[in-house]
Amino acid sequence: MPIKTVTSKAGKIENKEKMAEAAYQRSIEALKKIIKTLEEGELDQETLNNLNYYFILGDNPQKQIPGEILAHLKNTLKGLTEIPFTVEITFFNFANPGKGDKFSIANAQFKSANQCIRYMIHEASHAFSGTQDFSERGYTDNLGKFRQPGLTREEAVNNADGLAVFTVLHSQIALV
Ligand SMILES: [Zn+2]
Repeated sequence: MPIKTVTSKAGKIENKEKMAEAAYQRSIEALKKIIKTLEEGELDQETLNNLNYYFILGDNPQKQIPGEILAHLKNTLKGLTEIPFTVEITFFNFANPGKGDKFSIANAQFKSANQCIRYMIHEASHAFSGTQDFSERGYTDNLGKFRQPGLTREEAVNNADGLAVFTVLHSQIALV
């Protein structure tokens, strides 16, 4: 499978390979599920509300799904399933844009099974699809709410955290 190795700069972590593999499998499942939902266009009310919230679409009576979102999700899934990578457990979350051979996931988030899924998708979307961060306007808190208002619609479709949180919530993966 595409996880090559799991390394830790945050001390010894029991079962880190198993934990990373579990997060990886659930990340893949969650991405497949949201892609299918968006492609079929059958959005339940909660998914529609989340779509409108994370991508700043307002009331969106036409139920429009910006094409960038599906493209980012597909690129992220393709990268995760095709390119072997190292998970490095450290003190911050990080990925090199366009370079998917290593993701850093912060120790605290790695140890929380659901947050690990969220950050694996977040970092993979940077690495494989060139998504961006928009500081406090783009990051969400542990309830999945934007830390600060002001993200624009243009930014929102490229916002790594919005894509990740939208994806995990669709699979009923609780953030806390
Ligand atoms: Zn990021």
